[in-house]
Amino acid sequence: MTEYLPFTRPSIDEDTIADVANVLRSGWITSGPKVKLLEAGLSDYFGGRPVRVVNSATGAMEIALRLMGIGAGDEVITTPMTWVATTNIILNAGATPVLVDIDPATRNIDLAKVEAAITPRTKAILPVDLAGLPVDRDRLYAIAQKHGLRVLEDAAQSQGATWNGKRVGSFGDLCSISFHPNKNMTTTEGGALVLNNEAEAREFEKWRLQGVTRFPDGTMDCDLPGGKYNLTDVSAAVGLGQLKHLDAFNARRKALADMYFAQIDRNLGLELPLQSADSNWHMFQPLLPLAQMNTGRADFIARMHAQGIGVGIHYPALHLFSLYRARGFAEGMFPHAEHVGASTISLPLFPAMQDSDVTRVCTALSNVLRAVLK
Ligand SMILES: *Cc1c(COP(=O)(O)O)cnc(C)c1O
Repeated sequence: MTEYLPFTRPSIDEDTIADVANVLRSGWITSGPKVKLLEAGLSDYFGGRPVRVVNSATGAMEIALRLMGIGAGDEVITTPMTWVATTNIILNAGATPVLVDIDPATRNIDLAKVEAAITPRTKAILPVDLAGLPVDRDRLYAIAQKHGLRVLEDAAQSQGATWNGKRVGSFGDLCSISFHPNKNMTTTEGGALVLNNEAEAREFEKWRLQGVTRFPDGTMDCDLPGGKYNLTDVSAAVGLGQLKHLDAFNARRKALADMYFAQIDRNLGLELPLQSADSNWHMFQPLLPLAQMNTGRADFIARMHAQGIGVGIHYPALHLFSLYRARGFAEGMFPHAEHVGASTISLPLFPAMQDSDVTRVCTALSNVLRAVLK
């Protein structure tokens, strides 16, 4: 029996593990020199813009909304096809998420529908680069500028992806990255915000840790009710080891995605993702031909699992979760997001996968689908 192939798995090298051990032995394990080094490395990666790290991307985005002054009575425009963190943070800020359906080609927010959703209460647009495929940054920022809106890019999945040859995060307004273990680089858990200037970065630091500023003479002050979001040096050491490999990880992901495009049987009725050179291939997500199948997605996934292959779901359309239904959202409001949410599957894709693993997945996909196609 061949080994079980998960849909994702982090690649942590021995040097990184040794460096984590060094931090643990050093006597300083919370935020310290490794956090500073990781922030410097990320700043380099994002074209010299200031970057600050925290213990999750959710936290980075919570603070980003604070920096934008978004609160009660404000509206933020975003997509229903994302991890629910994207909209939960808006609710937690006391603001209102205004959802716009996705473009079925990209599965990202349909920018052609954004302007119609803008009201006098709109403060920001919160686009998501689903699966690492960037939202059209030219069009996005043209709309934001025209209407005087801030942008918080939820780039949790798109570290290293590009738009017009420029790295996502190296330009634009605030940009949030996630280092959850499933993402293209990890700090175990963690996240980062790319900021516009040092003043904004200092404000971020206050929100990150109890609103406290420490002065050179040893005194301190607290002038806002900040939270507890700081990343530890243990996690930062993992991130430093990962950042060295990020571009190689992404190149490997792209090669594996290309193999999927070459090998997936086009007669199975699967709807493949857009084959874009801008993507960092965070995920590879075909849509199942449910109308042509005599079984459902859960059974399909169980059958793949029985073949030793892990398949994920990212994501159900979030407006159909009970929290959002209770706020007035319902079936039929965002048909493209609902179609993707109901039929999407995430196939195995991670840097340590072998070429032969892709073939194995494609063979299982053919066998399982052919058995259930009407
Ligand atoms: C992973 C993810 C998040 C949340 O990141 P955390 O680091 O787990 O808080 C937010 N948005 C999207 C699109 C994600 O994929």
